[in-house]
Amino acid sequence: MDKQDKTDKKDKTVFETFIGLEIHIQLITQTKIFCGCRNSFGDPPNTNVCPVCMGYPGVLPVLNEEAVRKSYLMCLALNCTLSEKAVFDRKNYFYPDLPKNYQISQFEHPFGINGYVETTLPDGQAKRIRIHEAHLEEDAGKMIHEGAVSLCDFNRTGTPLLEIVTEPDFKSGEEVESFLQDFRRMIRYLGVSDGNMEEGSMRCDANISINYPGKGLGRKVEIKNLNSSRHVKLAIQHEEIRQAKMIRSGETIIQETRLWNEEKKRTESMRSKEDANDYRYFPEPDLPPFIPTASFIDEIRENLVELPHLRRKRFITEYNLPSETAEFLTDEKGRADFYESVCKEGTDPQTAASWVKGDVAKVLNREKMDITSSPLTAERLVSLLKILDEGKINGQTAKKVLDMIITENRDPVSIITEHSLEQLDNSDELSSIIDSVLAQSSAALEQIKSGDMKPVGFLIGQVMKLSGGKADPKKTKEMIMEKISAL
Ligand SMILES: [Zn+2]
Repeated sequence: MDKQDKTDKKDKTVFETFIGLEIHIQLITQTKIFCGCRNSFGDPPNTNVCPVCMGYPGVLPVLNEEAVRKSYLMCLALNCTLSEKAVFDRKNYFYPDLPKNYQISQFEHPFGINGYVETTLPDGQAKRIRIHEAHLEEDAGKMIHEGAVSLCDFNRTGTPLLEIVTEPDFKSGEEVESFLQDFRRMIRYLGVSDGNMEEGSMRCDANISINYPGKGLGRKVEIKNLNSSRHVKLAIQHEEIRQAKMIRSGETIIQETRLWNEEKKRTESMRSKEDANDYRYFPEPDLPPFIPTASFIDEIRENLVELPHLRRKRFITEYNLPSETAEFLTDEKGRADFYESVCKEGTDPQTAASWVKGDVAKVLNREKMDITSSPLTAERLVSLLKILDEGKINGQTAKKVLDMIITENRDPVSIITEHSLEQLDNSDELSSIIDSVLAQSSAALEQIKSGDMKPVGFLIGQVMKLSGGKADPKKTKEMIMEKISAL
């Protein structure tokens, strides 16, 4: 035994890591899964409750069709095999924030099984993650601990929750972190969930085991309550090291549930893990199995939008964009749609990309606005860029006008007309502004005449200033040089 211990301590083996995820997403619906209470975040405690979601004896659940539709949409996006007959089951356990003392969930016949999803790893490689299943269930409420008192808020109780279980296909915390970002983008594209991890509408538990290379899965430990993709990564990295130390010193890994302690940056034991049979699942007697017709599924399939990773690839090839730009543009569906509408109106894709990624993003960030809810429509940006392209305004003015479109919710043409922002062309006005600048810049003129061209920039700057930014810099330079050589 002694000898064995020593060899283990010297053992420099890098263990193989296996990580599987259980991702819970709250579905976007008007009402809860089995009653008519509002499904909404942030309302005063216990205002969206009724006898059904409070678990009063004798009440009956009625299945929310929108929750079913969104679940199937997600299953289709995850390439799952759909169950011919989806069954709801009771999962029995006591939780103060789920007063029925059971959760209606799915066990043997979930909506979808055996799917997969493509993801891009941090090194740019594509990887296929297998999906074990996706099942629909009701969420529990929220416990609020105030000193010695614990309070229950049942607003969340009965919110439709889709749980997506992956196979243990991840090899590191970094892979999981980048996958979760891809996944969040996907559910937002599909419109099934807002994926907000801080508000708990997307939550993730990670199952992690390590083993000697080639030996297969080790004994898994579940880490719960991970509320950001970064915490998931940190918790996994911590757990890999903890388990490796245990195996090296000959200890046995216990199958248990652990919590991530953000302050101490470590996982801590919470409870030993229940097996499925501890929950005594049985079919929910108050809900018939759901048997979708082919036309029901076809109708849902029509809402299957192009997924973000495919759209990103298409943007790179179709619009000839650098991958970083394509990634930015496809990060949110609204932004990608906006960009494509601008291109469809005939704007050069490179120009459109540089505006959307540059000045448009800058102003929207400053105003804390989303492109879809901002006053900047694709038509307005196209119109502004056309005016710029025709040389009626210069680049500086275009930026100013863009700002005004967003902050004042107005049309570019009316802004330009009202503030007379049209560029001064080869007019008498520009000529007389240049004359007055030259008249006050004798020192600069001497310098230029002696062959030092440096002050030209200064003179252009003075003309721009005097013209209120409306002079065409190129034309101004030409005219300045002409006038100087004629002196
Ligand atoms: Zn209710």
